[in-house]
Amino acid sequence: MSRPLRADIDLDALRHNYQLACELAPHSRALAVIKADAYGHGAVACAQALADLAPAFAVATIEEALALRAGGISHPVVLLEGVFEAAEYALAAEHDFWCAIHSEWQLAALEQSELAQPLSCWIKFDSGMHRLGFTAEQVLGAKARLEACGKARDLHLMTHFASADSLTPDYFQQQMAAVTALAAQAELPLCLANSPATLAWPETHAAWNRPGIMLYGGDPLEGANDASRRLKPVMTLSSAIIAVREIAIGEPVGYSGRFVATRPTRIGVVACGYGDGYDRHAVDGTPVLVDGQETVLAGKVSMDMLTVDITDLPEAGVGSRVVLWGEGLEVNRVAASCDTISYTLLTGLLPRVPRHYHGGVGSAADDQGVAQLASAQPLDTHA
Ligand SMILES: *Cc1c(COP(=O)(O)O)cnc(C)c1O
Repeated sequence: MSRPLRADIDLDALRHNYQLACELAPHSRALAVIKADAYGHGAVACAQALADLAPAFAVATIEEALALRAGGISHPVVLLEGVFEAAEYALAAEHDFWCAIHSEWQLAALEQSELAQPLSCWIKFDSGMHRLGFTAEQVLGAKARLEACGKARDLHLMTHFASADSLTPDYFQQQMAAVTALAAQAELPLCLANSPATLAWPETHAAWNRPGIMLYGGDPLEGANDASRRLKPVMTLSSAIIAVREIAIGEPVGYSGRFVATRPTRIGVVACGYGDGYDRHAVDGTPVLVDGQETVLAGKVSMDMLTVDITDLPEAGVGSRVVLWGEGLEVNRVAASCDTISYTLLTGLLPRVPRHYHGGVGSAADDQGVAQLASAQPLDTHA
């Protein structure tokens, strides 16, 4: 028997979420953002599952883009931060990677590059995030130089919102006003919206959008938006109880005895820990599902195990299925108990956790185990 911890990846849910992004912005095309190994879901499997829907993908590094090519993905791939050194331009041209240009040095290096073919360049405008990008005036200068140098084609203008997930969108609107003013002068196709903007701000929907977290069912608006409630979780992280302890009043559980029983307590020990990517900051009271019923974390998360209170679940015991997040337990709720966001939990899942893929079209689906189970136990039990 192997350790029961696993991440099940529902590629049909991924497709549903991508299609929702398209439905919300019917006049835009959506770059599927699959950086950081598709937010922990497996970039090649997710790209394959979206291959017939998404016209292009977006990643953070050329290594991530090359891994897609090695996985048989031939779509254009946007490098969201462009190149990190001049030598990458030749590779980018060879593989049709579309490059963000956010800095003078990237622009100068491109002008001096020898390329097999001109590169699609996405000029990054700093409309207020103050992380990457050019000022409005520099954007216009960069555009002129790119048009003149013969190394660029299909210019786009891109910006990133700092607070599109805010329900009091003053700063977002300030950024949007800066974009609108520049767009009138630059006359380039725009790429603006991340997930919260795709979900909540139709005025940002342009030639291209860039949804990321929403593809995986993470709701950046925490239920405040009707559309986001239609997202489906893609990853379900589940395990099982491997031991049960009866704890007397006053006895502690786990490292440094953070949890102390205030009643006779049954503790279930679950095979999942921070060595798998479950956040050690999770507080006592973090929600956990045991056999489909909600209970709570009790005690500090260890490297390979965590402990849950099953006192009120008398049927629960060794072998009970435990859902850490996903189906039936929104990853946002777990993230809130860890003082973080869904992004860090999903991208933080470590390679030790086996991924099992289900559904999807033309995917690397790994449904065999499930298929065998289905044929051994026919669904029609009334027959
Ligand atoms: C990661 C990223 C996105 C996607 O953001 P989400 O909030 O996950 O939708 C979009 N644009 C850029 C530039 C990014 O780095």
